[in-house]
Amino acid sequence: MINPWTVRHVVYPWVFPLLKRAPGRRIMRLVERWEEQSRWPPERHAEESLRRIQGLVRHAFENVPLYREKYRAAGVEPGDIRTWEDFSRLPRLTRDDLHGDREHILAGNVAARDRQFHHSSGSTGVPATFWIDRERASLIFANYHLNMRWIGSEVGERQAWLWPDQRGPRGRGTRLRRFQMRLLNRIFLISPTLDDEPMAYFHRRLTRFRPELLVSFPTRMAYFLRFCRRHGLSVPQIPRLLSTGETLHDHQRTDFAEAFGAEVYDRYGSIELGDIAHECTAHEGLHINSHRVNVETVPVEGLDGDQGMMVITDLDNLATPFIRYECGDIGQLWPEGTRHACPCGRTLPRLVRVLGRVRDAIESPSGRVYSRVVYSRVAREIPGIRLHQIIQRPPNTLVYRCQVDSEFPEDGRELIARVFAEKTDHEFQIEVEVVDHLEMTPSGKLKMLIRE
Ligand SMILES: [Zn+2]
Repeated sequence: MINPWTVRHVVYPWVFPLLKRAPGRRIMRLVERWEEQSRWPPERHAEESLRRIQGLVRHAFENVPLYREKYRAAGVEPGDIRTWEDFSRLPRLTRDDLHGDREHILAGNVAARDRQFHHSSGSTGVPATFWIDRERASLIFANYHLNMRWIGSEVGERQAWLWPDQRGPRGRGTRLRRFQMRLLNRIFLISPTLDDEPMAYFHRRLTRFRPELLVSFPTRMAYFLRFCRRHGLSVPQIPRLLSTGETLHDHQRTDFAEAFGAEVYDRYGSIELGDIAHECTAHEGLHINSHRVNVETVPVEGLDGDQGMMVITDLDNLATPFIRYECGDIGQLWPEGTRHACPCGRTLPRLVRVLGRVRDAIESPSGRVYSRVVYSRVAREIPGIRLHQIIQRPPNTLVYRCQVDSEFPEDGRELIARVFAEKTDHEFQIEVEVVDHLEMTPSGKLKMLIRE
């Protein structure tokens, strides 16, 4: 453990640039600049975003074959984007666009030394492939520190990750990397499985290391808690928990807060776009990192009007521009026109919540769509449900599969069936299964919805 002041003022700005070419001082200056911007009058955020979008659209049209084709087919010229309304009529980028030829999505004017080829994990389908500006790594670091600041956490504080694989959130888990992490007072606790052995090891490490922040997928945190409870171990007390990678349900939030004695925060991001939105200490929705991305929602048939699929524009990445990208997640934007300011003082636009993948929404035979919120409401109303997963079995059966603890009532199964049937307007035949193991994706996330 290195003194946090030393990490902040010596290691990060001076040692790190030598070790991994991360320009620590520049990154910290960016954090300061963005923090200042986050308190701009709201109109100024919108003006600045539109100005950058206009430049980005022009760049994409002039340099990226895919966009040139899309925009020409739609009869759009870059100069046509004068207002937000013009922008909202631009053709969107879809995941399918990212499955084709690498050259097709590459900006011809970005030199090879300035870009890197990437792909998404593919945990929920075919991996998307795309290019990222090398320069973007620094922006991603800066954005991470900024978001940490929003929850009161500074560089140098003890931070731990419970992570599924070698690819941590910021690169590979080599020995050099572990050393670098120790210099920043961070540890990565990695295991592809959720068995007792790694969990016991994590428990020992966390108890000894006493992190001030723990970052993980909510499913992983839930498994860890279950392990502690089953073996009568005291749960490490951690002031802050940051949930990422999966939807954080209200019942999990309550459970984690109680068990870890923690403030629980939610983060939303993706491999393609980096950090998109992050909660602050006020817990009033998630602030959008609007110095990096622009978030819109578009209606999805069958969903409530205030929810929609998020369509996101990355304001930074030139190598493969993401302009109006259909990211596949359902979100709810803070209602426009409300002048309610976040108690933290930041004026950035906000998401009320992220409701999970569009793909994880259940479509009924009559064509109605039920988002993931429906199944998380079931878990909220019945005590003792720890984790759950839905299996949709044609023609109209839904299986509610769950892990439960001792608080689960004796008539729990009947209760679930009744509540779930009510929430889905009795459109389905409901079956309930209580199990020990739920199906995970190869990247260690819980499969929310399985279609048979
Ligand atoms: Zn706030």
